Amino acid sequence: MTTLKEKLSSQVTAYDHWAQRRRYGPDGHNNLSLWVLACMDERLPVDEALGIHVDTPAGGGDAHCFRNAGGIVTDDAIRSAMLTCHFFGTKEIVIVQHTQCGMLSANAKDLEKMLRDKGIDTDNVAMDPTLPELKLEKGAFAKWIGMMDDVDETCIKTIDAFKNHPLIPKDVVISGWVWEVETRRLRAPTRDSEKRARTDFTSAPFGVKEKQPRRWN
Ligand SMILES: [Zn+2]
Repeated sequence: MTTLKEKLSSQVTAYDHWAQRRRYGPDGHNNLSLWVLACMDERLPVDEALGIHVDTPAGGGDAHCFRNAGGIVTDDAIRSAMLTCHFFGTKEIVIVQHTQCGMLSANAKDLEKMLRDKGIDTDNVAMDPTLPELKLEKGAFAKWIGMMDDVDETCIKTIDAFKNHPLIPKDVVISGWVWEVETRRLRAPTRDSEKRARTDFTSAPFGVKEKQPRRWN
C-alpha cells in the first residue's frame, strides 16, 4: 500500500519538475510535445476543437499555443515554432484556421488605404521597434497584413510553409485543420467544393471582389 507520505512526496517532485520544465530543455516538453498555431478569433475554441487543454490547471498544459490574426505563417510564428521544436522537445505542429474568419472580410489593399488615409506611412513602419533590421520593402505592407481569399487554400499553404521551412526540423509531424464555426466541427482543409459546402470559407460572402495581394509563390 502506498502511504500518504509517499504519495505527497511524488506529487511534490512532479510539481517541481512541472514548474521548472523549461530548465530541462527537450526533457521538459509540454504534455503532448505539441505546438499549436491558431487564429486569434474568439469563435475558435482551441481546446474544444483539438480535444486538448492548452491552459494549465497546475501540473497540466498540453501545448504551446501561438495565436495571430488568421493563424497564418509569420516571422514570429516561425520564431516561436523554431524555439519550441529545437529547444523544448516539441515533436508535432497543429495549425487551426476557421471559416467566417475576419481575415476574409476585406481586401488588404483597401485596409492599407484606410491606414494611409489616417496619416500612417505604410511604406515606413517599424515592424518591431526592438529590431530595426526587420523592414518591409516599399509596397509590401498589404501582403504583410495577410488577408485571405480562401481559408482552405491558406491552410494548405500554411502547412507547406512549415513543412518546407529550414528552421523547422524535418521529423516534426505537421497537420492543419479548418474549424467550421457554423457547425462547430473540425475538418481537413480541402479543395473539394462538396466537402466544404456547409460553410463560408472564402471572402466572396463578405463582398470582397478583388484578389488579395499575392502572398504565396
Ligand atoms: Zn480568424
